[in-house]
Amino acid sequence: MKETTLRIRFLGDPVLRKKSTPVKHITPDHRDILSKMAQLMYESDGIGLAAPQVGINEAMIVADVGNSSLYKLINPKIVKKEGSQVTEEGCLSLPGVCIKVKRARKVIVRAQDELAQTLTLEAEGLLACVFQHEIEHLKGKLIVDYASFFQRLKIKKKLEELKNASTLLSISTRSILSEQSESKERSNEELPESKTKSCKLQL
Ligand SMILES: [Zn+2]
Repeated sequence: MKETTLRIRFLGDPVLRKKSTPVKHITPDHRDILSKMAQLMYESDGIGLAAPQVGINEAMIVADVGNSSLYKLINPKIVKKEGSQVTEEGCLSLPGVCIKVKRARKVIVRAQDELAQTLTLEAEGLLACVFQHEIEHLKGKLIVDYASFFQRLKIKKKLEELKNASTLLSISTRSILSEQSESKERSNEELPESKTKSCKLQL
């Protein structure tokens, strides 16, 4: 697990799709990773970051929505959801992509802190959104999964340009594109607003 320098992983990296394992024994290594994740989140102007985004499939997240509270959570789980909200979310692993995601407005999260103390956190609004986004990262789920089929194709095409996008991803995108091009006309009106600009919220 020991990683000295962390870097953000992008869509196409299999680590983002793997389910993270729970952390059984919290060690100084975990605390070190969490500090580095927080540092990387701040450097990247993000408000949340999950361990798979730095190549580690262990259940850890960090979040700071700018109210001077940095959360470093281990084994976070949502135990209660209430209401709904729609937010335009970006993701540090999907640069330049912005997708409207409907989530609960209020959540209760149970987690452990760096010292293995159990925490119960109540979050609302933006913080609730961040917790839900990051916890989904631990399940291998990404905001691109909320996009329509055609919006997804657009995003994949865009991400092909990324240095780290795998060859496999671009090949499969191209073949899907050629297969589906005839039905594109019909579904165009259902497309949500094209979101290719960079998003304000990076998680
Ligand atoms: Zn993300």
